[in-house]
Amino acid sequence: MAACKYCGEKAGFLSNKHYFCELKYKQGKQRVAQMVEYILRNGGEFSSLKKRIKEIAISSAVRLQELDAIYIKTFNKAVNSLIEEGHFTEAIEDRIAEFQQAFQLSQEMLDQDGTLKRVAKLSIIRDLDKGLIPEPRMVVESYLPFHLQNTEQLIWIFNDVECYKQNPNLQADTSLRMLGKNEKRHYYRKVDEKSETVKMVQMQHMGDGTCALTNEHVYFTSGNKKYKLKINNIASTEAFKDQISLFREGFDSDAQLFKNIDGVFMYNAINRLIS
Ligand SMILES: [Zn+2]
Repeated sequence: MAACKYCGEKAGFLSNKHYFCELKYKQGKQRVAQMVEYILRNGGEFSSLKKRIKEIAISSAVRLQELDAIYIKTFNKAVNSLIEEGHFTEAIEDRIAEFQQAFQLSQEMLDQDGTLKRVAKLSIIRDLDKGLIPEPRMVVESYLPFHLQNTEQLIWIFNDVECYKQNPNLQADTSLRMLGKNEKRHYYRKVDEKSETVKMVQMQHMGDGTCALTNEHVYFTSGNKKYKLKINNIASTEAFKDQISLFREGFDSDAQLFKNIDGVFMYNAINRLIS
């Protein structure tokens, strides 16, 4: 006869668990998740929460190693709902830092679904709204292939970004046609919502590489190709979920399109940085 995996007592014929032991275990896990969500939303004493969670874990046979997974899952769920509800405040941001420290959760653990990056971007936008130059929020692990000026502050860095240049002299190609396999990469379907037409704008693929945003410039580098655009020389921006086009000041000037980037964040940050 096997033992119950929760209480260790005999579990009966062909069974490895008692019904009520399993129920208690599931309820224990649920209770921990609820308590973590509550404190993230409403605040409270993290040290007493930790103590209470330990008691619940012991009494419901939840192993201590299982708790981290509950914390991370609950963190992702709670923070993303708070953001979507529009209730993400500075107080919650402070609470997240406290939570991370109290439960000794690493940046990588809390960013498995990109939630911590989302939080960092929101605080950057909030700083910019207050007229502050944002402090770096995430640890930059990759080597920074740019020389920043003394007054310059790195805001964000994106890797594996595709860079295209929109040549204004080649924009005449407005007809829709089938593109060859190799051509595809060099065209960008631009949908004009007002006229409901799709125009093919010729894009020149400049390379794939690293794109960085500072309080003064947008940088891009791919191998030996380097590109630097002063924020104050940006005339307009056009953003989508995963791309942004930057139009330089000047009549008929070219545009730079960055793909595989958080376009919405870039758009919001750049438009606040333009002075
Ligand atoms: Zn049992």
